[in-house]
Amino acid sequence: MLNAPSQEFPAPGSQQRVALAGRSKVPLKPGRSLMDWIRLTKSGKDLTGLKGRLIEVTEEELAKHNKKEDCWICIRGLVYDVTPYMEYHPGGEDELMKAAGSDGTDLFDQVHRWVNYESMLKECLVGRMALKAFAAPLKEICPRVPEGNELLNGTFPKNENLDYSSKDIVPSYDWFQKDDSITVVIYTKQKNMNPELVIADLHSGKLRGEIIVKDYSYLLHVELSFEVHEEVIVQVSEKVGKVEFVLTKREPLSWKTLGQPLESHNSFVKCTDRGLCYRKCKLLSKENVTHDTRLFCLMLPPGTHLQVPVGHHVYLKQTITDAEIVKPYTPVASSLVSKFKSPSCCDKTHIFFMIKIYPSGLFTPVLDALQIGEYISLSNPEGNFTTLQVEEVEELFLLAGGTGFTPMVKLLNYALTSSNTLRVAKLMFFNKTEDDILWRRQLEQLSLNDARFDIQFVLSEPKEGWLGKQGRISSSLLSQFVKRSKCDSKILICICGPLAFMEQGIQFLQDLGHSSKEIHCFTA
Ligand code: FAD
Ligand code: NAD
Repeated sequence: MLNAPSQEFPAPGSQQRVALAGRSKVPLKPGRSLMDWIRLTKSGKDLTGLKGRLIEVTEEELAKHNKKEDCWICIRGLVYDVTPYMEYHPGGEDELMKAAGSDGTDLFDQVHRWVNYESMLKECLVGRMALKAFAAPLKEICPRVPEGNELLNGTFPKNENLDYSSKDIVPSYDWFQKDDSITVVIYTKQKNMNPELVIADLHSGKLRGEIIVKDYSYLLHVELSFEVHEEVIVQVSEKVGKVEFVLTKREPLSWKTLGQPLESHNSFVKCTDRGLCYRKCKLLSKENVTHDTRLFCLMLPPGTHLQVPVGHHVYLKQTITDAEIVKPYTPVASSLVSKFKSPSCCDKTHIFFMIKIYPSGLFTPVLDALQIGEYISLSNPEGNFTTLQVEEVEELFLLAGGTGFTPMVKLLNYALTSSNTLRVAKLMFFNKTEDDILWRRQLEQLSLNDARFDIQFVLSEPKEGWLGKQGRISSSLLSQFVKRSKCDSKILICICGPLAFMEQGIQFLQDLGHSSKEIHCFTA
């Protein structure tokens, strides 16, 4: 679960850094899979030796438990005895030991902040850190409107402990009503606000609105005074940075207050300090893309406004043998752009995923068994890619291995339809066999329709008769492929696929003289 990055590669145009190496899975002993761990935690065995008691842990006490055979780790103020988990950790014991006897929150956030450790390590919970040692108490970073305070005006409470660079960017909110509607207005004080930065969920009389402002997240979270229809209209004034949520009243009552504040209401915290929020989406369709990969179409609930930006991913969550398991997936468009048809990107309620089913995998076989009309939980988007990276790019080189193709779909569509400068877009697509190539016909069709686009397939396990390129990612393949057509062309190279593929690819590109600014690597 905790894998410390041992090599970092800067993501262009982003403060975030992506860690690649050191995240490979280590071979686990037989009987030590995630499924085995879940079974052990459900067996009723006392894993902490505390017989279900929870204790308050001081920093000194935590530090004493720093050995493989006695290892405690603190994550977000809660202390876990991870000794029994050691042999089950996919990243290996050594990675886990990096946080032994200490606060592993940062390490955990760098790599796996999405892993549902509360559920995975529930039976390992020892207790809570004694307050003195809890580095960032929630109430300091998540100020709340005091209980009973009426929500007439949502000016953000001043908090000197907040570490945002300029206090001028702290959003505030207000609301007004008409006979049939309620409008909540959030002043983000942010230029270039856009609908992708706004996530709204209106369910069971509760409104949760999250707005991303730079690396921070502003949350509006209230239990509404009266009933409204479960639909929310989101309006964004991009230039002035105003966001409006328009709700429709069920009855023409006059509201005195918007409602009661819920957890973290009116708070403004670093995005990485905000837990992921999930909503249940309906499976609308499931189609075969290849023998083992399917295109899933999910529908957002009517009360949700959520748009996944190009190159970002979400987490899907399922309960498997009583444990909540989450895995990241990158939404794709329903198809690639063609001369005649732009992708159905205008439909904001459907989200498409291209997902490979691994028969021995934990998550995908259960996902594959999901029936049309059934539901699955989907998180807010995450990612460190921004379309600003494509701005002014003249030549775009995409390197994809297997389902590492998924972030390339929306990126290609975006670049080919929105860029004024793009002259060349080339995809080198690495697969094992011809049968594994995703959307082959669409890719070939696109290269016929759009003179800027070129596709090259490379197979690592070709069957007899394959006349195309063979092998795995290599310096010689890349030196032929990533060639500027003009010596001063502005280029961007994007890479995604198995970890070893990305690590090798980045190394080859660096050896070929490409700067880190010219390379973007898609990771979680
Ligand atoms: P797992 O249980 O993880 O197993 C996968 C394979 O690895 C199986 O063959 C299994 O036998 C083997 N394995 C498991 N554990 C070990 C071990 N310890 N040692 C050796 N082998 C092992 N996938 C997509 O299909 N589409 C996407 O759009 C997509 N987007 C992603 C976006 C991001 C940011 C990331 C990081 C990953 C993405 N993935 C995507 C991959 C996805 O998150 C899952 O990893 C994948 O679906 C496998 O999940 P699983 O639980 O079914 O398989
Ligand atoms: P796969 O095993 O079918 O391999 C596809 C190709 O990748 C191979 O033909 C080979 O050319 C190359 N490759 C595989 N292993 C390699 C290695 N050890 N060294 C060098 N090259 C190698 O691929 P798959 O099963 O479709 O897996 C796709 C991977 O992409 C998964 O690991 C998934 O997590 C990752 N992925 C990441 C993101 C993201 O981070 N945004 C999105 C989608 C998929």
